[in-house]
Amino acid sequence: MNEYAIPESAGAKFQAAPLPFSRWDRLPGVKLGQVGAEPALPEITNDLQRTIHGFAEKVMRPIGRELDHLTPEEVICNTSRLWEFRNKYQELGITTQTLATFALEDLPAAVAILFEELGWGDAGLAVSAGVDLLPHYMAAKFGNEFVAKTYPETLIGCWGITEPDHGSDVLDSTGAIFQRGGNYGQPNCVAKITDGKVIIRGQKSAWVSNGPIAELCILYCAAETDKGIDPRRGAVLIVPLDALGVSKGKPLDKMGQRALPQGEIFFDAVELDIDHLLLAPEDYNKGVYAIHAEANALMGAIFTGVARSAYELAHAYAHERRQGGVPIIRHQDVAKRLFHMARKVEVSRAIARRVTTFNMMNGIPALHAAMFSKVTATQNALEVSSDAIQMFGANGVAREYPVEKIFRDARSSLIEDGCNEILAIKGGTLLIDPELLTATA
Ligand SMILES: Cc1cc2nc3c(=O)[nH]c(=O)nc-3n(C[C@H](O)[C@H](O)[C@H](O)COP(=O)(O)OP(=O)(O)OC[C@H]3O[C@@H](n4cnc5c(N)ncnc54)[C@H](O)[C@@H]3O)c2cc1C
Repeated sequence: MNEYAIPESAGAKFQAAPLPFSRWDRLPGVKLGQVGAEPALPEITNDLQRTIHGFAEKVMRPIGRELDHLTPEEVICNTSRLWEFRNKYQELGITTQTLATFALEDLPAAVAILFEELGWGDAGLAVSAGVDLLPHYMAAKFGNEFVAKTYPETLIGCWGITEPDHGSDVLDSTGAIFQRGGNYGQPNCVAKITDGKVIIRGQKSAWVSNGPIAELCILYCAAETDKGIDPRRGAVLIVPLDALGVSKGKPLDKMGQRALPQGEIFFDAVELDIDHLLLAPEDYNKGVYAIHAEANALMGAIFTGVARSAYELAHAYAHERRQGGVPIIRHQDVAKRLFHMARKVEVSRAIARRVTTFNMMNGIPALHAAMFSKVTATQNALEVSSDAIQMFGANGVAREYPVEKIFRDARSSLIEDGCNEILAIKGGTLLIDPELLTATA
């Protein structure tokens, strides 16, 4: 018997369904669905996709475009439509608890589709919704019940990890890519862990997403114990931002994702009960790994949606705009460009879904796989939105048209949640197989 033959026991034999040639046009030109070459989804996921798509179209897009034109102070003021977005988003009921009602086999696709649709609506508002989940979601992942019992999920969440003097450094908490002979210097934020209490001093960077409006922070910072301060063995804490000693910086003005409020958080001897310590120094590196795996996968899904929105706008414009006597899509180069844009969206979506599924099903997530997704989707979003500008010609750079905003939104994503080049070199270290090294030593 051929040792490479498929065993008989492999199950029912594949039966090719006959192609209905009689019903084909000369070239069938199958129209892809709203989420691309997507095979049929379970009804619960279809419903979610339809609902979130409607929300993204009717609520997020108009509000995102309006906020894009405002100053950072106007974005967060009481009369801003940011609050209309937040209220309507809360009505959708997307919380750690409701996500837990999905069957495990349906959850990865549901999460990937949810964030793709939000990203399609508006990148900044989608990121705001994503980080909002993190304090409760990560606490649940760490097996912590205190957070769910003590703080309602309606509080606006944020994740504070980067500092004025430590951006890429803090995301490489194990020092895997640290320069030999380098000096980490002083951390800007330290949590002193004493008997029954935690006291936080210092600040987080101006880039904390939701910082100016957040009410609950999952804080990653250096820890001071009786052994002193070791910036690489920090603490993970849950911090209510109405605690005595917390203050906020001015909201940051920036190029893209302008609907997303960002800003510093300061801690002036903020004293909390030890229950607020989610992870102690010995588990800190695992905590950085875990949240990064979630955040990078989320970014992969969001920026699939961002790329898709740019592609769809370019696709529609290419049918509408006539030059040389024909709609521009009739020009081969234009159709070819659209093909590559659509291909990139499909690649981003496929990897986002695959990584979300693997990581949710696997117990221990693969951080480098999440990094594949983040790096691929953000780079593709940048390229697709840049091509969309080109497709619109001079209209592409006019603020009256939507694509220049999408390009600005996409550009920030190459830095957000870790610069893509840092993710690649750090992800590369995760590919090292110690068993193979031993075998070749
Ligand atoms: C839109 C957006 C949202 C964000 N949201 C949050 C948030 O919610 N919470 C939060 O805490 N932070 C947030 N950040 C901060 C973000 O994580 C950091 O900006 C990012 O990690 C890079 O850090 P940095 O800006 O200090 O750049 P730096 O680390 O100073 O890097 C500067 C340059 O040096 C290169 N470089 C640095 N170190 C190395 C190295 N070892 N090897 C090779 N090259 C290196 C980098 O690639 C980069 O090109 C956000 C940022 C953005 C843009």
